[in-house]
Amino acid sequence: MKNLSIRFKITLWFAAALTLVIALTYFIILSVSGRVIQKTIKDNLIETVTHNIDEVEYYSDISTTDLNNDVDHFIHYGNGFLEIDDDFLDEVNEVYTALYQADGTLLYGENPIARHTSGLTFTGGGLRTISVAKTDYYILDRELTGNGLDGLWLRGIVSEEQGAVQMSSISKMSLILLPMLALLAIFGGYLIARRMLQPIHDISLAASGIGKGGDLKKRINIGSGNDELHQLADTFNEMFARLDDAFEAERRFTSDASHELRTPMSVIMAQCEYSLEESGNTEDCRQALEVIQRQGRKMSKLINDMLNFTRLEIRAESYLLETLDMTELVSSLCTDMALMKENGITLTCHTDAHVLVHGNRELLTRLIANLISNAYRYGKANGHIHVTLQSGTDNVTLSVADDGIGIAKEEQDKIFHRFYQSDTSRSGTGFGLGLSMVYEIAQFHGGSVTVESEPGVGSTFTLFLPKI
Ligand code: ADP
Repeated sequence: MKNLSIRFKITLWFAAALTLVIALTYFIILSVSGRVIQKTIKDNLIETVTHNIDEVEYYSDISTTDLNNDVDHFIHYGNGFLEIDDDFLDEVNEVYTALYQADGTLLYGENPIARHTSGLTFTGGGLRTISVAKTDYYILDRELTGNGLDGLWLRGIVSEEQGAVQMSSISKMSLILLPMLALLAIFGGYLIARRMLQPIHDISLAASGIGKGGDLKKRINIGSGNDELHQLADTFNEMFARLDDAFEAERRFTSDASHELRTPMSVIMAQCEYSLEESGNTEDCRQALEVIQRQGRKMSKLINDMLNFTRLEIRAESYLLETLDMTELVSSLCTDMALMKENGITLTCHTDAHVLVHGNRELLTRLIANLISNAYRYGKANGHIHVTLQSGTDNVTLSVADDGIGIAKEEQDKIFHRFYQSDTSRSGTGFGLGLSMVYEIAQFHGGSVTVESEPGVGSTFTLFLPKI
């Protein structure tokens, strides 16, 4: 449940609540319809019997009636005749009516359960119920009075079961219709939940885009509004603005501090050189000055690296992009750096012809030089460095492969972080800023850099740049 999306969870809860409501509705429909149907059956019985009362007449002399074309029914009764009008409803809608004498003799009509009602005395009260073979029957008796009809009874009978048939069809219909409605409502609910939660998806996409791209100047935009989701987007935007300000302040501080450190550092280095040239120095004093000079050089390099970094971060627009012949750039750098022959290492180079990119010469030179000097620094004695430049369909790839010490798997992500050094014994004058600079330069060109490495076997750094 925890791993389900909110959209799905809302739909599930909604479906559960809806199922409960629908089950309740089903039982309410059944109980209300049951009552209505039973009332209708009883009303039918009362109506039919009441109607039939007026359809029975007594004649002492049959000659007083006109028998031509008459379809009425005549029965001998007492000293005269009973006329049952042809409108007499002896069976309608399964309501049966029969005409009886008070002693229980059936004169006219139908009674489907006559056998069971023979002993049932006539009574002028309301409806009665009797049960025959597990079926309930409603019975209504009405006494006929006046005009020679005294002593006659009408008995109406209807089975309560015809209600059960109607109930079963209502129940069947509800069982088909209600789940269909429920499915429709759940689907509708899912669509509504998706629509309502779409801004959260947009916020999450925008926030992760900003996080991955590292561009804190971007903002989440989900249109205008003042609901909870717009407030959430505003909160995120305020947070990005504050973070951006904080990073900007940090970058400015690093840039200003490095800048300010450069002048006193140059003075220290100049004074150091001057003092070393002085012939009157003792050997101890000389050694101390040499230490100061070495550390001073290191510090100057750090200050320069930091300045280069902050320039790329806060004044990137000062690096102009041009159409650059990477074949020429890589070949000339390889030719120069192959002369280093540090540690007996041989550098070879293979480049595709006329590979062009949209780039900044200074930055790309720094990037390639960093990768090659790392390959020398962390390569094995008398080993090999191989530089390859290839032009693919979408990208230009530059790889620098060495057969040196390699990098442990768990370190491969970290080496691109600032000031991260995994092997300080070999880093010499480095500060762990070289690869993070490589990473920033690749990003600045809309490219990326990856590493494949195995400890003891070697490393391959690959730069991908968009092709023009
Ligand atoms: P630095 O070389 O100044 O320490 P970098 O940022 O250039 O800093 O490199 C970071 C770390 O990555 C280094 O300390 C080193 O351990 C590792 N590294 C870089 N290039 C290679 C390589 N070609 N082979 C093995 N390890 C390397």
